[in-house]
Amino acid sequence: MKHQKTISYEILSLESLERDEQDLLEQAMLATENAYAPYSEFFVGCAVALQNGEIFLGNNQENRAYPSGLCAERSALYYIGAQGKGNQIKTIAIRARCKNVPVVKPITPCGACCQAMVEYEEQSNNQIVVLMMGETGNVLRIVGVRLNLLPFYFDLAF
Ligand SMILES: [Zn+2]
Repeated sequence: MKHQKTISYEILSLESLERDEQDLLEQAMLATENAYAPYSEFFVGCAVALQNGEIFLGNNQENRAYPSGLCAERSALYYIGAQGKGNQIKTIAIRARCKNVPVVKPITPCGACCQAMVEYEEQSNNQIVVLMMGETGNVLRIVGVRLNLLPFYFDLAF
């Protein structure tokens, strides 16, 4: 039997977003400043807003032993989880810049980061908004990680 899932997303100009989402994307770009990416030279920043308005930043942290590094998104999310606030996540903004090439398209999170978002979304009891953008260009906006970013997320089979 054939099944079908449909995802929905918006592609918007930065200026058309609500002020708080524009500000969060600005914070995500500022977060790229502390990325440690000497190997990829791809600097990713993430800003996460909690339901109470608190904002936490993350960025990619690489290591010469490559698998030891961590993405910007999970750097932020795991820090928030470590503060006991993983159940309060409202919006995640992701930006990136590259040393030699302009990043003009939205940067989407890797599968592992999407999977991490799934569980924080379950804990947060609301649909997380994810805003994705390069240095310039339009914003890719989704509402609901499980619905629209990783519909076939890993789940326990019982
Ligand atoms: Zn990732």
